[in-house]
Parts: sequence; C-alpha cells; structure tokens
Amino acid sequence: MSAQDSLIKAGGIASQVREEAKSIVEVGKPVIEICEFVRRRVSELGGGLAFPCNVDIDYVAAHYTSPLGDTTVVEDGSLVKVDIGVHVDGYIADTATTVCFDPRLRGLVDAAEAGLDAAIKAVRAGAKSGDIGSIIERTIKARGAIPIRNLTGHRMARYVVHAGQSIPNVSGGNGHTLREGDVYAIEPFSVPPTASGQITNGPPGHIYQFKKKRRVRSETAKRMLKVIQSEYRTLPFASLWIQEKFPGREGVETFSELLRSKCIDSYPQLLEESHAPVAQAEHTVIVTEDGCTVTTA
Ligand code: MN
Ligand code: MN
Repeated sequence: MSAQDSLIKAGGIASQVREEAKSIVEVGKPVIEICEFVRRRVSELGGGLAFPCNVDIDYVAAHYTSPLGDTTVVEDGSLVKVDIGVHVDGYIADTATTVCFDPRLRGLVDAAEAGLDAAIKAVRAGAKSGDIGSIIERTIKARGAIPIRNLTGHRMARYVVHAGQSIPNVSGGNGHTLREGDVYAIEPFSVPPTASGQITNGPPGHIYQFKKKRRVRSETAKRMLKVIQSEYRTLPFASLWIQEKFPGREGVETFSELLRSKCIDSYPQLLEESHAPVAQAEHTVIVTEDGCTVTTA
C-alpha cells in the first residue's frame, strides 16, 4: 500500500471510531471504557493506535488516558474531549471531537469547530502557517470565545506524531510555508473570553514514550524495554498496555525503573491555567496544490 493509501485508510478508521466513541460517551460512563472501546475498535478495523485514546475533561486540555483501575466517570455538566490517533504502517491520522453536557458550553464547541473548518478552507501548498493561525483566532473570537495560544496543530511523519512544524491557533508571525504532500493535524482549542487562554503542565496523564535505550539492571526491565521499542517505536503508549503484559507488582516496579533510568518519558496532562472549560476540534489533512484532503472527515 502506498503512503497516501495508508494515510487515507488510517483517516477512515479514525473518523469511524471517533463517531462511534462519541455515541457511547454519556453521563456516568467510566472513562476507561471509552479508552478501551477506542483501542478495541481501532484494532478490529485493522489499524494501530498512534497514541492512547485521550479523554480530557473540562479544564484538562490534553494528554489524559486511563491508568489501570481508573474510576473516573463522565459527570453531568462536563465538556469531554475524545482524541484518537490511528496509524496504518506508521502513517498517522489524528482527530478529536468534544461532547458537551452543559448547553451553556455549546458555543465553545461550535467555536472550535468553526475555527477548524475555516483553517481547512485556507490550507493549500504555499499557504503560510501564520495566516492559518490568524484565521483560526479570528473565527473563534467572532463566536465569543478565545483560542488557547500555546497549543498548536502539528506536522506528522511516519511513526512521528509531532514532526516539528506547527500550525498555530493564534496570529503572530508568518510561520512556515505548507508544501504539497505534507501531513498536518490542525486542532483549535477554545475557552471562554475570561479564561487565561494558556495551558500549563499538570500531573502525569499515564501516557509515555520511548526515549533512549540505556543500561537497565533487571532482566524484566530489559524485556519490557524491548517490548516497548518493538511495539510502539517512537509512538506514545499507555502504562495500562504495559501492565497487561507485565502484570502485578513486578510490572509496576519495572515500569518505574524504566522511568527512573530515563529510557521512557512521561507526558504531563496539559491543563488550562485558569481552570476554564476547554473545547477542541481536530482533523488530519494532506496538503495538495490547491487545497487539502481531509483524511479524518
Ligand atoms: Mn489529537
Ligand atoms: Mn494532534
């Protein structure tokens, strides 16, 4: 299969699972069931997870997935972002949606979606990333919300979710020029106008990434690192997945050993600084000469 075909296939799976996930998110639903549903469906449809399903509630903007035994449930009045990453042969689709359980927050969701739609219309080979950021900011502000200024969309490469260049959600500078064939995730985040509009690092979100192969003491640690490298390569993974393969106390202790020895890295949750509710919309696009192909539409 060509790179293009893999990207399209990954996008189709991500889109289908996003819509299915949306329909199972309801008040009282355990977050771990949403994460596990996405994991199961992506696999059933023939994809791999490009990162653990993120379920980010209210002022958590990004990077939360359920740990083993998670008891978090979806509460009434909350804003729930479901962010899904699928890969086919390393070619990634990244897409997110927001489910809203407070009618007063509906406008935030609409603002993020409108920002995304406007950005997609502006994407083409030769466009400047800075101009897309301006369009997103203007569109979100026209709907009475503001974008989070230190979260961005990002270029993706094979087995790499964040491949360097970003697509800002605010104006400021020209940025770089989009080229034909480039793959980008575009993801505006909106908050109420009274919010700080910035995210800060929070506690660990139970998402990890392989960093560097270093000397580790125990045989189990060597084995665990080998599994991580071969199954996830440079893609983020969940501690839950490792604990299934290495159950019990030994698994937990070995995982800590890999963290301590900096073989793997932990992603912090990204929290809106003023604890305002955050909405998100995200699609993956392939830049074409006169526009783009939305793989996750
Ligand atoms: Mn995403
Ligand atoms: Mn993304």
